[in-house]
Amino acid sequence: MFCAKCGTQVPAGARYCPTCGMLQEIQETPYAGRVKRLVRPREGRMIAGVCQGIAQYQNWDVTLVRIILVVLVLGAGTGILAYLIGWVVIPEADYSLPPGTMPPPPPAA
Ligand SMILES: [Zn+2]
Repeated sequence: MFCAKCGTQVPAGARYCPTCGMLQEIQETPYAGRVKRLVRPREGRMIAGVCQGIAQYQNWDVTLVRIILVVLVLGAGTGILAYLIGWVVIPEADYSLPPGTMPPPPPAA
């Protein structure tokens, strides 16, 4: 796993980052060690999902990300460029089944 603060690889089971000393989250899910991907979710997006993706990746409120973007757009004008770059660079999330949908049954033998 990797330190959330400095990105250094942390030995599995270590509680603190050897580089910056940040307390590491102990991951006990079956997906432990899975790399967190920055993607643009297909649900909840307003334009292209860039703000939504950044918010999910950083565990921020999506509204906060949108406010920051609007401030950047109105302030320096760099927000539009940043958004367009994010739109191009950040991949879309994988398709997921709608809630309540059963996965297809395995093929009959
Ligand atoms: Zn660290």
